[in-house]
Amino acid sequence: MLKLYHNKKGDIVIKKSIWLEGIKRNIEKPLEEDIEVDVLIIGGGITGVSCAYQLKDSDLKVCLVERNEIGLGVTSKTTAKLNYLQETIYSTIEENYSYEEAALYLKAQRYAIKMIKDIVQKEKIDCNFEKVSSYVFTDKKQEIKNIRKEMSILSSLGQKVEENKEIPFPLKSVYSIHVNDTATFHPLKYVYSLVDLLKEKISIYENTEIYKIKKEKSFYICHTKNHQIKAKYVVLACHYPFFLFPYFMPIKTYPEKSYIVASKIEEYKKNTLITSGMPTKSVRYYKDKENYLIYLSNSHPSCDDVDTIHNFASIMSEAKEMNCSISYLWSNEDLITFDHLPLIGTIKENLFLATGYNTWGMTNATIASYILKNAILGQNTEYDSLFNPLRKNGKAKTKSYTKNMIKNAKGYIENKVKVDKPWYPNTLTFKKVHGKKIAIYEDEKKHMVYTKCPHMGCELIFNEIEKTWDCPCHASRFDLDGNCIKGPSLYNISYKKER
Ligand SMILES: Cc1cc2nc3c(=O)[nH]c(=O)nc-3n(C[C@H](O)[C@H](O)[C@H](O)COP(=O)(O)OP(=O)(O)OC[C@H]3O[C@@H](n4cnc5c(N)ncnc54)[C@H](O)[C@@H]3O)c2cc1C
Repeated sequence: MLKLYHNKKGDIVIKKSIWLEGIKRNIEKPLEEDIEVDVLIIGGGITGVSCAYQLKDSDLKVCLVERNEIGLGVTSKTTAKLNYLQETIYSTIEENYSYEEAALYLKAQRYAIKMIKDIVQKEKIDCNFEKVSSYVFTDKKQEIKNIRKEMSILSSLGQKVEENKEIPFPLKSVYSIHVNDTATFHPLKYVYSLVDLLKEKISIYENTEIYKIKKEKSFYICHTKNHQIKAKYVVLACHYPFFLFPYFMPIKTYPEKSYIVASKIEEYKKNTLITSGMPTKSVRYYKDKENYLIYLSNSHPSCDDVDTIHNFASIMSEAKEMNCSISYLWSNEDLITFDHLPLIGTIKENLFLATGYNTWGMTNATIASYILKNAILGQNTEYDSLFNPLRKNGKAKTKSYTKNMIKNAKGYIENKVKVDKPWYPNTLTFKKVHGKKIAIYEDEKKHMVYTKCPHMGCELIFNEIEKTWDCPCHASRFDLDGNCIKGPSLYNISYKKER
């Protein structure tokens, strides 16, 4: 059932992502036996499904498992721009790595957009793929030099970039640049069309969670609740790996949360916009039976600013100031790497990871599918070392890692100490049972949950708008009854049930 409520203007707001509207598909059955395959892909977001698509015509026996339903992770709540103009990424890479690596990153992003375009054309996929212009802009004079530097790097790499002061959107801008060869699409129509093309060739199991992986000789034994999958190669396409060691994700990435609204508008425009720096504001349009503006704001490290009510209220009032009614409202988290580049490649013999896309996962998941297909087939690509998840990039990492760790630790401690959140509704109360904190939320019934994330013990935050319990440290989410709906946690937080 959709969760509805009225905003101040009296419009009905649906509290879910616009991409989930009208989407119907037949869910694949869970795994019901032990199996042996060549490649196991864990995770059915754009990363896992793209990898499976790339491998579908190989001679390998491939299987994809998804803990929930395919596509309902971060991919279902994105803004789905296919863009290589990504804030000021090229100057960041040049500064922290080299000009050559910035050039290679650009090549990878452009190649990924072309891959998606070619797949859409070849497979005749109806996913609203549309060529658009994309802008990076700022309302701060001191940021102009950063955008100019971005333009200079892109121009020196042969990209046609134009400068402007005005932007085609009613937000203040003192300087902007734009390119004309980027795109947008509907992420779930794309992912689900790929799944339809895969079904005959690879086995897909939904509601099937991998909770343990063990290496045995030259194979991995991957355990679900009742069965096991023996695989030579394993692809971790699960966004945030569910195991802590040996690849310790908390020192590689942190989650960033953003708030998004979709509003019905008169005019559909073929452009996208994003600010060069924080606070991020991002815009795109979507044309269905009606025209929609999709507007993102208030991005912040999840640990930094946990007042979800304030953050939702703030994006709603921004939309109101722009005279936009709100049809859809949601939030989402992606993983930001401390050293600015995605993590794609081998983390252990025949064990591959693809994540840490820094909110540019449509293109980076696609380039990941190309890199990992080649790695599994024993071939190198020119992008392997740029995205190597075992890289040691001292300079880039140490600076941002230290800064973010301090922020994270501060947020973590604050959440622990400031137990009372004045913005929590009075339908939410807490009590201690056998020394453990229990939250009780009452609507038509009582929902009782533990308030600690089973992953690493962070204090969970109640997200009253989406009716979820959100982990500010690593972005696991739980529903009102404590069922884990998003990892890395493998466990529920339901009170009374076994944990
Ligand atoms: C607000 C926001 C806006 C964004 N906008 C853009 C944009 O405009 N353009 C762009 O390029 N990128 C954008 N991104 C980034 C992009 O959406 C993500 O990087 C991308 O969707 C990640 O895809 P994924 O497949 O790696 O993860 P997911 O979509 O989360 O898929 C991972 C899947 O793995 C499953 N899983 C997890 N653990 C297990 C397990 N143990 N066993 C089985 N299955 C498991 C999960 O259930 C999930 O379905 C945005 C991100 C955010 C947060």
